[in-house]
Amino acid sequence: MSRAPLPRNGLRAGMAEGSETRTSTPEAIKTLLFLDLDDTVFQSQAKCRHHGMAEHTLEPAAFLESGEAHGFSTLAQRQFLRLMTQGAEIIPTTARNAASYQRVRLAIAPPPWVILNHGGVLLDGHGQPHPLWAERMAASLAPWLPALHALKDEINAWATCEAPSLYARIIGDLGQEFYLLVKDREKRHSSTLPKLREALLDAWFAAHGSQREGLFLHQNANNLTVMPTSLDKGHAVAFLLEDYRARHPELLVLGAGDSRSDAGFLRLCDYALIPRHAQLLLDLAGAP
Ligand SMILES: [Mg+2]
Repeated sequence: MSRAPLPRNGLRAGMAEGSETRTSTPEAIKTLLFLDLDDTVFQSQAKCRHHGMAEHTLEPAAFLESGEAHGFSTLAQRQFLRLMTQGAEIIPTTARNAASYQRVRLAIAPPPWVILNHGGVLLDGHGQPHPLWAERMAASLAPWLPALHALKDEINAWATCEAPSLYARIIGDLGQEFYLLVKDREKRHSSTLPKLREALLDAWFAAHGSQREGLFLHQNANNLTVMPTSLDKGHAVAFLLEDYRARHPELLVLGAGDSRSDAGFLRLCDYALIPRHAQLLLDLAGAP
C-alpha cells in the first residue's frame, strides 16, 4: 500500500516551495475571550519578583483605594492583551467587586460585558447590572444567606477567645450578599485557619450535612471562604454564551484564567489559556 507523502514545512504535499499557496480567504467568526484578571494579566510586585519577571518591563495595571499600584503587568502580558484585542471581544471575568474593578487599567476595548464577584454580578457595557441575572442570583443565593450569617457569628464568637486576630464577614456588592470570608488581621493564616477548621468548621459542616451540597469551602494561603455553589464564574459565562450562541451560531470561545476557581468557566471554552506559574497549570503539569 503506497503512503501519501508527508507535507513538508507546512506546505501541502505536491506543492512546490515558493509557489503561491492556494488558500481560501479565512472566514472570520465572532470570537470571545473570557478573561480572568488577577494573576492572569497582572500580579503583585512580590509575585513578579518571586517568578523572576523582568522588573524594568513592569507597568502598573491595578491600584488600591489609596491610589497606590498593587498589580503589575509584564511585557508578555501586555502583548497577549494586544493580540487578543485585535481578534476577540474581551469579557473580564473576575472575583473583583465593582469598585476594585474600576481601579484596573488595561489597554483593552470597552468590554460589552463584565463578570464580577465570582459571577455574582454581570454588568453591561454601560456599567449597569443585567436585571435578569441579578434576579436569578438573588433567588439562588437567598436560601444560603441565613446559614452564612449564623456561621459568621459563630466564627467571630469562637475567634474572640481562641484566635482574636481572625475575623469573618459576609462579602457583598451592589446590594447583594454573596459569601463568607475569613481573614487574619495579623496575617497568621497558616496557623489560625487550620485551627478554625479543626475546632469549628469541620464540625459545622458535619452537623449541617444538607448544606454540604450547596456550600463550598475553599482555603488558600491568605483566606478562607464559604461560598454557595451557585456562585461561580462558569454560571455567568454559560448565561452569556447562551445569548451569544443564539445570535452567532458559529462562535469561537476562548478563556484565560490561573486559578482552580476558573476551571468551571474554562471548561465552557473552545480553548483554555493558562498562564505560566498558575495554580491550575501546576495541577495539570505538576510542579517544575
Ligand atoms: Mg486569577
